[in-house]
Amino acid sequence: MSQRPAVGDLTDGRTYGSEAHQGHAARYWHLQDDGRIRCDVCPRECALTDGQRGFCFVRRRIGDGLALTTYGRSSGFCLDPIEKKPLNHFLPGTSVLSFGTAGCNLGCRFCQNHEISKARQMDALMDTAGPDDIARAAVAAGARSVAYTYNDPVIFAEYAIDTALACREAGLRNVAVTAGYVQGQAASHGGRTAHGAGDADLPRARDGCVGGDHDARDPWRER
Ligand code: SF4
Repeated sequence: MSQRPAVGDLTDGRTYGSEAHQGHAARYWHLQDDGRIRCDVCPRECALTDGQRGFCFVRRRIGDGLALTTYGRSSGFCLDPIEKKPLNHFLPGTSVLSFGTAGCNLGCRFCQNHEISKARQMDALMDTAGPDDIARAAVAAGARSVAYTYNDPVIFAEYAIDTALACREAGLRNVAVTAGYVQGQAASHGGRTAHGAGDADLPRARDGCVGGDHDARDPWRER
């Protein structure tokens, strides 16, 4: 196995660019021998030159690093009954604070949230909220959990994981609504952090979903 020349720093909280929305340092990537940066979050394994964005649109190479351009920015918040996620035996009768960002690593033609999953204007992200802000808002609203939903949290893994940690510290549980199209450290870190529930939808198993040339039957497989 060849040695990776550089790896995304797991502790790096830098903000790229002169404006915060240009991005937060992403964690799951490495520099390839050909000079491109490969995102390791999902099986698409986008290999990027400077300025390029991945298929999901929200992970972008900036110089010698990879940025998550939606960190701290949400497409909106909503207080839902937990049964709407849909979860039946997880904290029944309680409220969950739901939020999502923009972009997606899938390309389903039947997507119900295509306005945000295929958003190409970051103006679709109306609310600015860091992990601690979300945890505080959930507690203030009387929610028992926070849901990462509307678009797949896989693509905003760093934001979701940091928020999940803040929620755990605040005594909240976490709910990930995901197709599970994720791999490697992003998958293992997300799984270890969640302390809650996961709703694994499998759109790639249906007609009309573009999930890449990968096995649609085993989304949790380590690659
Ligand atoms: S998360 Fe986005 S940038 Fe990363 S491999 Fe998947 S589609 Fe590409």
